[in-house]
Amino acid sequence: MFQRPWPLFLLLIGCATTQAPQRALFQEETTIRVALQKEPLKVSEIGLEEYLMGVLGGEIPREWPLEVLKAQAVAARTYTLYRKQNPRSEFYDLESTVEDQVFGPTGKKDKKIHQAVSETWGEVLKKGEEPFTAYYHSCCGGRLEEASTIWAKGEEPFVTDSYCTACPSYSWEEEISKSELVSLLADWGLEADRPWSLKISLTTQSGRAKELVLTTSSGTKKISTNDFRRRLGYQRIKSNWFEIEEKEEVYLFRGHGSGHGVGLCQWGAKGMAEQGLTYQEILKFYYPDTTIEKWHPLSVDPE
Ligand SMILES: [Zn+2]
Repeated sequence: MFQRPWPLFLLLIGCATTQAPQRALFQEETTIRVALQKEPLKVSEIGLEEYLMGVLGGEIPREWPLEVLKAQAVAARTYTLYRKQNPRSEFYDLESTVEDQVFGPTGKKDKKIHQAVSETWGEVLKKGEEPFTAYYHSCCGGRLEEASTIWAKGEEPFVTDSYCTACPSYSWEEEISKSELVSLLADWGLEADRPWSLKISLTTQSGRAKELVLTTSSGTKKISTNDFRRRLGYQRIKSNWFEIEEKEEVYLFRGHGSGHGVGLCQWGAKGMAEQGLTYQEILKFYYPDTTIEKWHPLSVDPE
C-alpha cells in the first residue's frame, strides 16, 4: 500500500522524459517566419504550433465552439506549411494580415485555443502528398466558390452552404458615390470628372464578380474585383459576390457573405459545430477529397 504511489510517480516521469525530446525536436524544426510589419520590415521567427495559437486568437472569436477552433487550427496549419514551402518572399514565409492569416499574440494565453491546437497537434489536410492552400474565409453567404470536384461530376457549379445563415454579412448593401470613384480613377489610369458606367464583366462559376469594367469619358478600364475591393476597403465591399445597381449619384452594391468564399466558411463551421458535428466532419464538408494526417513524423500528441 505504502509503495503504490512510487511506481505511478516514476511512470509519470517516464512518460514526460520519453515525449519531451520528440516534441522539442518538432518545434525546433518547424519554425515560421512571420512579417509583423513590412515598412520597415519586422520579421518574427516562431514555432509552428505557437504561431497557430496566435492565428486562432486573430481569426475566431474565442466564445465559439471548440470544434470550430479545431477545424480552423488544422486549416491554418495546412495553409502555413504550404506557405513555408512556397514563401511570400525570401525574407519571410507569410504576412500577419488578411493577405495571409491574421496573427495576434494573445491566443497563446487562452486555454480554449491552447486546447484546440493541442488536440489537433501536427494534423494537416492533404490532397495528394503535400499541404495545399487550404483557404478559409469569414462567411460564404450560402454558396461556396471553386468546387472543381463537383463540376467534374456534372452537378451544380458550386456547393451550397446552408450552415452560415446566422452570419451578420450573409446579405449586405453598400453605396459607393460616383465622386468617390472619381478620386480613384487616376490610380486606374483614367482621368475624368465622373464615371459613365461600372459593370461586372466576368463572373466565376458560383456567380462571383471576377472583373469589373469602368467606363469614363477618357476610356474603358478593366479592374480585377480583388483590386477594387482592396482599394475601397474589404469592410465596405465585403465579398466578390454582389450585383451593382446604378443610381443617380451612387452605385449600390447588394452582396452576399464576407471574404472570397473559397474553402472553410467560418460562420458555416460554427453552424455545423452547433448542430453537433465534429471538426473532422466540418473539414470534410469544406475540403472534399482531402485527408487529415499528421504532417511531421516526429509530431506527437501532447497528452
Ligand atoms: Zn457559408
